[in-house]
Amino acid sequence: MKDPAAVALGYVENAAQVDVKKYPGFVKGSTCENCLLLQGSAGNNYRPCSLFPGKLVSVSGWCKSWTPEM
Ligand code: SF4
Repeated sequence: MKDPAAVALGYVENAAQVDVKKYPGFVKGSTCENCLLLQGSAGNNYRPCSLFPGKLVSVSGWCKSWTPEM
């Protein structure tokens, strides 16, 4: 996903690629899969995210709006 909104939020397809110098708030082990904002059904590799209407994010991805699930 090369959406400008995604780029602005530092979205990457694989959380292992997060630049922790640029995003020191990165929590080890955080991915879209364990983010509160992820939508859709478990089991799919690409799922909707409430931050990016009409787009799909990788469950292994990450962005700086990551929010822990309750
Ligand atoms: S808000 Fe959460 S689910 Fe959406 S791209 Fe960022 S980390 Fe992934």
